[in-house]
Amino acid sequence: MQKINKVLIVGTGIGGGALACALADRGIEVHAIDNKPCISAAGTGICLLGNTLRALDSIGLKSDCLERGAPFHMFREFDSTGSSIMACPIGDNCGIKRPELSHVLESHATRRGAILSKNISIESVRDDGRAVLVRFTDGSEAEYDLLVAADGAFSRLRDQFFGQEFRPRFAKQSVWRFNARRPASLDGFHIFRAANGTAVGVLPTSAESCYLFHMENSQEHLRYPDDELDGLLIERLRSYDAPLIRDALEQIKSPADVLFRPFDITLVPAPWHRNRIVLLGDAAHAPTPQLTSGGGMAVEDAVVLAQVLSDHPVDEALNMYSQRRFDRVKRIFDASYQLSVYEQNPLENREKSAKLLMESYQFIAQPC
Ligand SMILES: Cc1cc2nc3c(=O)[nH]c(=O)nc-3n(C[C@H](O)[C@H](O)[C@H](O)COP(=O)(O)OP(=O)(O)OC[C@H]3O[C@@H](n4cnc5c(N)ncnc54)[C@H](O)[C@@H]3O)c2cc1C
Repeated sequence: MQKINKVLIVGTGIGGGALACALADRGIEVHAIDNKPCISAAGTGICLLGNTLRALDSIGLKSDCLERGAPFHMFREFDSTGSSIMACPIGDNCGIKRPELSHVLESHATRRGAILSKNISIESVRDDGRAVLVRFTDGSEAEYDLLVAADGAFSRLRDQFFGQEFRPRFAKQSVWRFNARRPASLDGFHIFRAANGTAVGVLPTSAESCYLFHMENSQEHLRYPDDELDGLLIERLRSYDAPLIRDALEQIKSPADVLFRPFDITLVPAPWHRNRIVLLGDAAHAPTPQLTSGGGMAVEDAVVLAQVLSDHPVDEALNMYSQRRFDRVKRIFDASYQLSVYEQNPLENREKSAKLLMESYQFIAQPC
């Protein structure tokens, strides 16, 4: 049986990092590269849902995430003044700062024997169907049994080997995000809804920190001047009187404290491989973030890919990987996009959104 011994992972984000851990754990030689220099201190947080925690647990990473993050089990909804509308217990979830999650993934991968190289990328790739010969930007060359493109939504490897038609398209929505100190009242995922249908979400990311987000609809792919982001966000949240939001806004000291990002989405049809090059995470499927699941799907991809590669001959394993992943990922991708479409007319679609959210979270909770 032809098995994989040596793998190159391009991209050490959530998907690439999780795969490096999972493959190294199974005794496969792993080289993972990233074109960024090191773990970024910037960025906000991410929500690890129950299914993501389960996938992380299966590769021995859950307890470190819980320790470095903020486990929570409560969802609360408020109006823009901070008056409670509803509260409900939810399953196991964990908010965590993105750099903390990267630290967990990369430290485990290294400890398990994976080689991580930063500040380096790929100059050329030759895939002869049995092996992949790679020339790196530092001039070195190496041969691998498999190349995993975990290089994100704007994957250059996907462009090269799958075609330009899978380039992300704008979902007519963008997000504002910023970090703040965690108030004592924040016991889970809180949403503040204004009368005009807009909302501010708040997620704890550690015992001391949280992050806030606010969506903005637009027909065009928006870009704002970097040095105006703080003022533009404060202006947009002017009508929110809830003390938690006012206190958080007061902590913004400079435009660099605020992140603005349009949602660019893509879904590549199965199969997710061409010869010995395979897509993983956002490179294969980048959804809108309404179901807080893009990172979770990337971790599940990593768990499934590592499992099939160690149990089956490589060609069979690669087919099994897309077969096991595609329908689940598509359902979550479609529901996430539908929720963002509903948010174009939030007041009109409120009940439909709530129903789809509930059904989708039940689906996501099922085993992958
Ligand atoms: C606003 C927002 C909120 C979100 N919230 C959540 C959430 O709460 N929960 C959740 O599960 N998901 C969430 N997501 C989705 C999640 O962030 C992504 O799905 C996840 O980061 C995808 O991981 P990835 O490893 O596939 O890609 P990425 O995290 O994008 O990593 C790709 C890596 O590849 C590297 N790279 C790129 N090009 C090259 C190259 N040419 N050579 C070498 N390296 C390269 C990059 O530097 C990067 O490190 C959210 C997304 C957004 C936009």
